[in-house]
Amino acid sequence: MEISTLYQIYSEHFLVDTDTRNIRKNTIFFALKGDNFNGNQFAEKALNLGANYAIVDEKAFKTNKHIILVDDVLETLQKLANYHRKQLNIPVIGLTGSNGKTTTKELINTVLNRKYHTIATKGNLNNHIGVPLTLLSITPEHELAIVEMGANHQKEIEFLCTICEPDLGYITNFGKAHLEGFGSIEGVIKGKSELYTFLQENDKIVLVNPEDKIQVDKTKHIESIYFPAKELKFVDANPFVKLSYQNTIIQSNLIGAYNYSNIAAAITLGKYFKVYHSEIKEAIESYSPTNNRSQIINTKTNTIILDAYNANPTSMQVALENFAALKNKNKVIILGDMFELGDVSLKEHQAIVDVCLQFNFKNQFFIGENFHQATTQKQQFKNFEDFEIYLKNNPLENQSILIKGSRGMRLERVLDFV
Ligand code: ATP
Ligand code: MG
Repeated sequence: MEISTLYQIYSEHFLVDTDTRNIRKNTIFFALKGDNFNGNQFAEKALNLGANYAIVDEKAFKTNKHIILVDDVLETLQKLANYHRKQLNIPVIGLTGSNGKTTTKELINTVLNRKYHTIATKGNLNNHIGVPLTLLSITPEHELAIVEMGANHQKEIEFLCTICEPDLGYITNFGKAHLEGFGSIEGVIKGKSELYTFLQENDKIVLVNPEDKIQVDKTKHIESIYFPAKELKFVDANPFVKLSYQNTIIQSNLIGAYNYSNIAAAITLGKYFKVYHSEIKEAIESYSPTNNRSQIINTKTNTIILDAYNANPTSMQVALENFAALKNKNKVIILGDMFELGDVSLKEHQAIVDVCLQFNFKNQFFIGENFHQATTQKQQFKNFEDFEIYLKNNPLENQSILIKGSRGMRLERVLDFV
């Protein structure tokens, strides 16, 4: 089937789904395949549940007027998303970076939503499936879209850009994340900069953090919007980031000085898209992080900084620096393994242990196989279960505790014991 014909069908209701568990009426069901599932098997079920059409790519399944056979369902989804994107007459903002994409996306959305009917990537749907799904969730009522694009190897951002075609792009930072796929920090810079290449080649606009030398250097030949350094300043982060913008204080609910640039990006775009100053302030001040990203939690016995959503050497380093700078007493850190670091894993874990020791925290705990290999520190546990036993026998009380590790470590489990 031609994409333009499929588009006709799609544009009757602007609804697509890939999961029969949340099928809505009038939807087009895309039967994607994964390692452990084959969506083709659910095509009929999707129709029975109310889908109007199912797109499949296995001949073995019987087709009819409502079951459409294509060569490749995923490719069809991506092509339809791009076809839709080309019909849109609204600004599309594309975000990537090693850390802070989701936080920045949420902040930008919160601010621009004060003036526009915005739509943004749901949760963390930022890959070769999530980006098309995000684009296909844009309907004629929307006035502006914010799309998060993630990558763990070269050419991925280039590909996502060809689908998303952002009008305005921003790279939150270049950090030591996904080194397994990118090879090195140089590899990360190269991979993320594919966004800049797209913007440059297509005469689009870039948002630039003037304090980030790499960003400044790489965007010289692209029409740029800079953070307004003179009127937008970092004040402090004790523990929540405070900024001054045009001589007014903006008090965020985000901890960690590293969140300054995330907030500054949202303020700068708010100004660029002409959101009132007071609305920008209100939007930032009313935003609170969720899902284990830099949250402060007071348990019965302790104060917790829960940053267990993910971790890599760069975000670990900034989280530790930030924690060290807080005025809290009795500081304890509980760190879990960082994943996807490939050959440099051992070295990077050792480096983080060294950083921790420099700061003289009251106590430090390292959890996981990687830290186990990287340090002979006493307070080191090969797995979570061993740590759990330790905590039950040695409860932590009246402490300020930073908890951070890769997603797979699920360190939020510590909350049950502190
Ligand atoms: P993912 O790759 O999982 O999509 P992300 O880039 O969307 O991650 P967020 O979910 O916004 O990032 O934030 C994850 C963690 O990254 C935060 O809890 C914090 O520890 C760290 N972080 C956020 N912003 C920055 C930043 N600008 N610089 C360094 N670290 C940051
Ligand atoms: Mg994200």
